[in-house]
Amino acid sequence: KASHKALNRRSVVEKRLLLALDQRNLDVYYQPLIDTASKKVIAMEALVRWHDEEIGTVTPDELIPIAEETGLISEIGMFMLEKACLQAVEWHTQGHDLKVSINSSIREFRGKNVAKTMLEIIERTGCPTTSIHLEITEKFALEAESETSIMAQMRTLEQAGISFILDDFGTGYSSLRYLSQLPIHTVKIDQSFIRDLTQDNQSIIKTIIQLAHAMNLSVVAEGVETEEQEQFLVENLCHELQGYLYSRPMPLNTFQQFLDNHPQQKTI
Ligand code: C2E
Ligand code: CA
Ligand code: CA
Repeated sequence: KASHKALNRRSVVEKRLLLALDQRNLDVYYQPLIDTASKKVIAMEALVRWHDEEIGTVTPDELIPIAEETGLISEIGMFMLEKACLQAVEWHTQGHDLKVSINSSIREFRGKNVAKTMLEIIERTGCPTTSIHLEITEKFALEAESETSIMAQMRTLEQAGISFILDDFGTGYSSLRYLSQLPIHTVKIDQSFIRDLTQDNQSIIKTIIQLAHAMNLSVVAEGVETEEQEQFLVENLCHELQGYLYSRPMPLNTFQQFLDNHPQQKTI
């Protein structure tokens, strides 16, 4: 009975999602990434938000798996990419040199033309490719390793100037081979390690940071909520920080105010 209910919910969500995509009714929230050394805002991560008038708020944790299963994730991905690119261009015009990070699911890379479609969208918006970071998970990386077409698409995007971030680092299948075989520029330490700074987690965090330094990768910590966590990460030379301590993900108008009140990288 419970599974019948779940199935029903899924089909309702799917139906409403089709409509929302059609009407471009999804929202983008932005969360800043802070450069540890300068304390400046250097990038923002775009996160999908969806409030449907009939079924209410659908969280990313519910939305993304359904979208992945139904294939609608590609449309969410393209929607987010276009919105984030247009916003990055707008910020550049205002004099803010901000990179923009977009989350990508493996499912999006199954299509043969993802790289091409993404590059077309980016070009249309006038956003420099070097401003774009694509966040992928270790699960993605695992599949990418086995699928040469996905690897090829990643290389195409990398050659065009896009950087890849390995998200939720440390929680996946942890094959360190991805770091050398895929075009990864940054690792993002999973928030579960940061949340609870036990001795073990401290050791894991230090090891990941050292690994990143040794491999010339950039390293970000997410889920930074306290000054104690910040201090630990600063002492251990983590390059970038993200979390509620700086800001929750915000709608555009709030992010704009945040930018106006915080130091950040300027263009020129
Ligand atoms: P993620 O990419 O790991 O994103 C970080 C999540 O942690 C976000 O949840 C963010 O709101 C939350 N967060 C940020 N700072 C803190 C903090 O200091 N403490 C705590 N407790 N949480 C923090 P959100 O927005 O609900 O997204 C959940 C997941 O859904 C994301 O995890 C990502 O995997 C996926 N997602 C979100 N937007 C998109 C999208 O546009 N496309 C795809 N493919 N996936 C998305
Ligand atoms: Ca992410
Ligand atoms: Ca993450």
